[in-house]
Amino acid sequence: MKRTGPIQRGHGKPVHEPEQLDLVVRGGKLVTPDGIVEAELGIVRGRIVRLAPKVTDATAAELDAAGRYVFPGIVDAHVHFNEPGRADWEGIATGSAALAAGGGTVFFDMPLNSEPPVLDAAGLREKRRIAEEQSCTDFALWGGLTPGNLDKLAGLRDAGAIGFKAFMCNSGIASFENVDAKTLREGMKRAVKLKLPVAVHAEDDAMAAKLTAAIKAQGRTDARAWLDSRPVAVELEAIRVALDLAGETGCMLHIVHVSSPEGIALIEEARLNRIDVTAETCPHYLLLNEKDVAKLGAHAKCAPPLRDEKRRKGLWAELRAGNIQTIGSDHSPALPEMKDTANLFAAWGGISGVQHGAELLVSEVEKTAAKDLPLLAAVLARNVARRFRLDHRKGVLATGHDADFCLIDYGKPRTIAADELWTRHRHGAYVGQRSRARITHTFVRGHAVWADGRLVNLPPPGEFLRPGEI
Ligand SMILES: [Zn+2]
Repeated sequence: MKRTGPIQRGHGKPVHEPEQLDLVVRGGKLVTPDGIVEAELGIVRGRIVRLAPKVTDATAAELDAAGRYVFPGIVDAHVHFNEPGRADWEGIATGSAALAAGGGTVFFDMPLNSEPPVLDAAGLREKRRIAEEQSCTDFALWGGLTPGNLDKLAGLRDAGAIGFKAFMCNSGIASFENVDAKTLREGMKRAVKLKLPVAVHAEDDAMAAKLTAAIKAQGRTDARAWLDSRPVAVELEAIRVALDLAGETGCMLHIVHVSSPEGIALIEEARLNRIDVTAETCPHYLLLNEKDVAKLGAHAKCAPPLRDEKRRKGLWAELRAGNIQTIGSDHSPALPEMKDTANLFAAWGGISGVQHGAELLVSEVEKTAAKDLPLLAAVLARNVARRFRLDHRKGVLATGHDADFCLIDYGKPRTIAADELWTRHRHGAYVGQRSRARITHTFVRGHAVWADGRLVNLPPPGEFLRPGEI
């Protein structure tokens, strides 16, 4: 396929000449977790080899980034692409394309929405094989931690799992059972030996089940009913249990999609007590509140649910205080008909947001970009790569690292339209939202994947990433 975008091919010199660069990214404002600098990148064979105010080496191609921010490729540690088995909900080809259109260069796929779920080495290898054919970005794979597969964790590690994911409440997928405290403790012990982190969906199963039954018994099924069935207390109870078990076992714990400032506070307290834990939140908890559940219906149904405006703002305060380590999309797709109901308990849960979540965060911080873009570069890229031991290659724009980056342009606000979406189904909570930011280009290992509103289907395809050595 033809290369698009403002890349000019050099003439005369053969590309393989050792002193010649493959690509120079000219004139952009480079975003690092420490601040924004005017600098150019020189790239050879997919790696950054020069980073300087002006790169003067001969180059085969140039990318004009003048007036734009050069942002590290987003490492999204939390997506559900549902392949194999439910590719009609999403799939790796469309999921990774939408990720790239939103500035993402690496995804970690969750183990549960594929069929079979990734509960052993064979399941992981099968998903890896498909992703190596289908993905336009690099990727890593989570293995599952369930009551039935404790003896398979070592095999999952050997096959290259990035970590183990467990549910502390019903996962919604019959073939992916949730853990009780006893199983989680045992799983954590084994994960310590295998030197891999455990990620948990932290909501207390008994509390959620009891409240849900009581609310359904009243005949309530609307947005308010859904929100009332999973109050913050449900999340906090599970977070406390997970933190206690991590303290007891020494496990590296990652608590996904924390929805409340109270949850972050519990985790921060544990961090101060030297528990090895990190907190993830998602764009939707920072961008939307519970009123959006009433407005958008099932498209804004997720668990834990969206919170009130005070908590949404509180989460921003925690983010700016440095108490949230990572942001992941928790992209969770579904067939359109599964969202087409006013009964929020019957609708499939999950926010489909892999393409626009990060862009909308970038849009939100336009006026404070000098301070907040570096913060976003930390939580969307560097911290994720560091936590999951991909930081020898990924997460920052630095010499020796993979040339994974996107270009951000602030401009006239636009309303996000459904036809912008590259996901399989063109629906989601962000359609209709206003954005002042645009991701104009995304490069994976020096190759354009997304340029000026078009997917650029250049080889090589996505590469499977294993965690580095401890
Ligand atoms: Zn999830």
